[in-house]
Amino acid sequence: MKPEILVLGTLWTPETRAQLCELFDCHFLAQLQEGERADLLASAGPRIRGVLTTGVIGIDGTTLVALPALEIVAVHGVGVDAVPRELVAARGVRVTNTPDVLTEDVADLAVGLLLACVRRLPMLDRYVRSGQWEARVPLAHARSLRGKVAGIVGFGRIGQAVAQRLTPFGLEIRYFQRSEGPEPQRRSSSLLALARESDMLIVCTPGGAATQRLIDAEVLDTLGPEGTLVNIARGSVVDEAALVAALASGRLGAAALDVFENEPQVPQALFEHDNVVLTPHVGSNTVESRRAMAGLAVANLVAHFRGEPLPTPVVF
Ligand code: NAP
Repeated sequence: MKPEILVLGTLWTPETRAQLCELFDCHFLAQLQEGERADLLASAGPRIRGVLTTGVIGIDGTTLVALPALEIVAVHGVGVDAVPRELVAARGVRVTNTPDVLTEDVADLAVGLLLACVRRLPMLDRYVRSGQWEARVPLAHARSLRGKVAGIVGFGRIGQAVAQRLTPFGLEIRYFQRSEGPEPQRRSSSLLALARESDMLIVCTPGGAATQRLIDAEVLDTLGPEGTLVNIARGSVVDEAALVAALASGRLGAAALDVFENEPQVPQALFEHDNVVLTPHVGSNTVESRRAMAGLAVANLVAHFRGEPLPTPVVF
């Protein structure tokens, strides 16, 4: 008999759905109506042994309670901040994620956002399309990257991949995280020190309680009116209200954001600024990364049910 699993979210390709249905007895929760979901959890919940979910959806406490036989939660994504770690640990439920396979694409997006923001590409595109160029509307100079300092908050897989990409642009790299990272990059003594020493901050930490609103008003003010903030980590890492206020008052120079506090809600105030670039949480949204992530998430489920070592377990 195939193990019964619950699949959360809507981002599964036909290819992945077919593979899942071949390997497991699947319940795709998102394709049910609200009322039907509760019925499914009540009837099939006690038999469900695995959950496949996304990094953003994770799993909530109510769903966990409805799955008393749950053995594994496979997260399609590297961030596991939407999985309540105390609850799964208390139940002995294993958790897996999909690190590495998305690192390069997420780092590419971070660099793309930085360039788009510093060189104001979305604004320039609007300038051309709206006829302002033809009308000779004056255009201010942008700032050069060369010779500036890029501060990376969270110097893990993605942070280091961002650093590798930025060095050839003539940027000096510094970083801050709790532990010492690899040489030769310089770790700043604190997050505030990094903000003080940097022209731009690129946020690459995990989400969750330990990084909640790490980038607060003080950090933004320290980065200052010439500074640029790029966030590809999680919306929760930046105090969004403080960010909106800092941009509105000119205390922060510019921001490029792929992630937000209450996705898909984005503060309307951010739409008003030409110095803000917004993308809809698409760091890993390439055919290649998404295929590799799905493959790895499924491989973790398969390994678990075969009693083999998990390819990428999460150690909380
Ligand atoms: P990783 O290799 O675990 O790196 C995370 C780094 O953050 C670690 O080196 C860690 O170092 C540092 N960190 C953790 N807590 C910190 C804190 N309180 N202050 C400062 N630094 C801290 O993870 P990764 O693979 O690079 O992924 C990073 C995050 O990117 C993911 O967790 C996810 O949330 C996000 N992400 C976003 C997208 C997207 O689509 N936008 C896609 C993929 C991933 P220390 O423990 O030494 O502090």
